[in-house]
Amino acid sequence: MRRTIIPIVAALAAVQPAGVTPAEAQVVQVTPLGGVDGEFCKLDRALIFEDPNGTRILYDAGRSVAGSGDPRLGKIDVLLVSHIHGDHAGNAHMAAPNSGTCDKPDTSVSSTPNTNTVNIALAKGAKIVTGSEMPPFFAGKLKANGGDPKNSVLVRYGAMKEFGGVGIATVPALHSNGLAPEFIGGDLGDQMQAAGIAGYVGQATGYILKFSNGLVAYLSGDTGITAEQDVVVRGYYGAELVVMNIGDTFTTGPTEAAYVINELIKPVSVIASHANEEATSGGKVLPGTRTEIFIKASSAPVLVPLSGVTMSFDGSGACVAGC
Ligand SMILES: [Zn+2]
Repeated sequence: MRRTIIPIVAALAAVQPAGVTPAEAQVVQVTPLGGVDGEFCKLDRALIFEDPNGTRILYDAGRSVAGSGDPRLGKIDVLLVSHIHGDHAGNAHMAAPNSGTCDKPDTSVSSTPNTNTVNIALAKGAKIVTGSEMPPFFAGKLKANGGDPKNSVLVRYGAMKEFGGVGIATVPALHSNGLAPEFIGGDLGDQMQAAGIAGYVGQATGYILKFSNGLVAYLSGDTGITAEQDVVVRGYYGAELVVMNIGDTFTTGPTEAAYVINELIKPVSVIASHANEEATSGGKVLPGTRTEIFIKASSAPVLVPLSGVTMSFDGSGACVAGC
């Protein structure tokens, strides 16, 4: 046996960089599903994470995923929703990819009272994994539409749960999380609309994902600067890849987001997100944009999520292809 094992070990040693195990050399693929192919556009939030084992996770479907029939989706095992606002859960969506322009996406297809998220979960038989007090809301929607309410799964702050070999935990996000009356409907929805109040579904969240190649990713969700980004996201989980919202006013802007990256989390790689602008043209970052300001201010390499362009990350958080 020794004679066969030694050459295999030697061959592995020859192709792996020093200190990188075979598992770490496997890649997690991240594919943005944005408004316009090859661009980073105003309402883009959605990312698909594919573990080396094939598990596919859709983060914040929002409005740029063109409903459950969007041909870019493929197999989806898990949907994540950072919080219940319409631009994340999806109160409306594009009729097809590339509807409208990068600056003015055409999101004329309504998905109330269900949410784009629920419609996709029903079509794919996927789980919706959320923290806070959002799971009962999604369970009710699944049940009301003939789905299995058990496919809405709780991961509240604290424990990490495994889904298809990927560990998922939630972390606090400093943001509001009111459920809009348009998702409630009926007399109650009308009365809440008239009163100008939203339903309570707990706090907004971010996510920690631990992939089978060892990669730990932090998805910030909509948030201001939080102490947890230092103590929990870096200190406990050691996040190596960060998806950072930079939209300003509603979340950290590019300058605050760069502080989070440079001083609190110190990751290996960063993906800009939620810029609320036409950030690119021809796949190139436009001057004067929030995205450009963030790239210049961040000490870690910032990757721009161009719709349909897959980025691959090894177990240490380094982008090894598509970047
Ligand atoms: Zn938002």
